[in-house]
Amino acid sequence: MTLDLASIDAVALDMDGVLWRSSQVMPGIPGLFDFLQRHGIAFAFATNNSMTSVEAYVERLRAIGIPARPEQVVTSAVATADYVSRRYPTSTPLYIIGDDGIRSALAERGFREDPPNAQVVVVGLDFAATFDKFKLATLRIRAGADFIGTNGDRSFPTPEGLVPGNGALLALLETATDVAPVVIGKPERVMFDVTLDRLGTAPQRTLMIGDRIETDIVGAQRAGWQTALVLTGVTTAEQAAADGRAGAVFDTLETLRAAWEAALG
Ligand SMILES: [Mg+2]
Repeated sequence: MTLDLASIDAVALDMDGVLWRSSQVMPGIPGLFDFLQRHGIAFAFATNNSMTSVEAYVERLRAIGIPARPEQVVTSAVATADYVSRRYPTSTPLYIIGDDGIRSALAERGFREDPPNAQVVVVGLDFAATFDKFKLATLRIRAGADFIGTNGDRSFPTPEGLVPGNGALLALLETATDVAPVVIGKPERVMFDVTLDRLGTAPQRTLMIGDRIETDIVGAQRAGWQTALVLTGVTTAEQAAADGRAGAVFDTLETLRAAWEAALG
């Protein structure tokens, strides 16, 4: 669907590749958020990263001049914790493979770990993953525990290059158990539903701004949202043109904001 900026009531922004790229902050950020606030357009942030806590994201957003509140930050860990708490009582014993983000999100909702008795195995990216962790997860899933993954990203970008992402850890466990995980992060539906819930808007009047077609753009379209692809991250102009699925393509957030201002007259 072609993007209709004049109809947008709220926006969700991916962060890596949209607001920043490792330590480099993208141009046009203060202008965009001034514009959103002036026009009463709600905003939230949606990332597949499950390792970083909401508080750490709020701090980073504020440090670059974005007036973010914790409830506006939806990580795949937050969406996973929402999903788990809607589906299971807090007395359900869990086993968690993952970092701070997913552990704190589940703990805040009252869940506790009890690995030998786990009825739900939750897997997020974990740079300290070991054979013993996968062994325990495999045994619990084979014993009937539900298997949930925070996100299915196959690789994870680091300064040294792409390293295994959470999708690679899920693939290991799927191979070992013959059980496919329920996956929460973009492009899956749960992530978009949780974000929409925070924004309180209708999907067709909500805009996803992202840099990755397969997750940000495709997932948002499946959820009935409008989409804008920015070329400051992983997708090149050539790839965007050849793919053609994004509602609109912008070089930067600055050109997006200029088009939006023009659309609102
Ligand atoms: Mg991104």
